[in-house]
Amino acid sequence: MDRASQLAREYGIAVRFSDFGAWSEGELRAEYDPAVPEIRINRRVADSLSAAERERFIQYAIGHELYHHREQIGEIPALERRSERESAADRYAESLLKPEPRILDNGEVCWKYIDVEEALHRFAAERQIILGFDVVEFVNGKVRIWGTSDHNLEIESKSSLQDVKRIQHLTGLEPPYDDLWFIFVT
Ligand SMILES: [Zn+2]
Repeated sequence: MDRASQLAREYGIAVRFSDFGAWSEGELRAEYDPAVPEIRINRRVADSLSAAERERFIQYAIGHELYHHREQIGEIPALERRSERESAADRYAESLLKPEPRILDNGEVCWKYIDVEEALHRFAAERQIILGFDVVEFVNGKVRIWGTSDHNLEIESKSSLQDVKRIQHLTGLEPPYDDLWFIFVT
């Protein structure tokens, strides 16, 4: 699942398509209704796009409206001017479209839990083989690494995602592991 859709689910927001009427075609991507809460995507616009464009359009629309939800619930402060809020929502939507790894001081690249699947696809496309991974936790500015090398996990590119999802026995933490990051050894 893409990051915007997964976040919408975690926030408990329904996402559905809606007919906004011909007048709004090409104008309004989507709307956010805090009363439900729900994100409604402009079906006419979505259906006018190619499959790839449609996918991106939907993720972008969800990301943009998610920003407004975060404003609504007070997770982020609402910027004063509407134009500022709209461009901030666009930047947020943009940021959700691309995974952003975190680089440690020693140069190792960490991926967020939510980006693990994307990272694995990337490694597979580059024909890299995954030899193992470490789980990283950032606590009060300190880095804690849960090594997997001694735990006899089945680390093959095919099953890595499952292994990552089954790290509960390593860390004692419940998924989703939003506070954990992952380093892959390829
Ligand atoms: Zn907006």
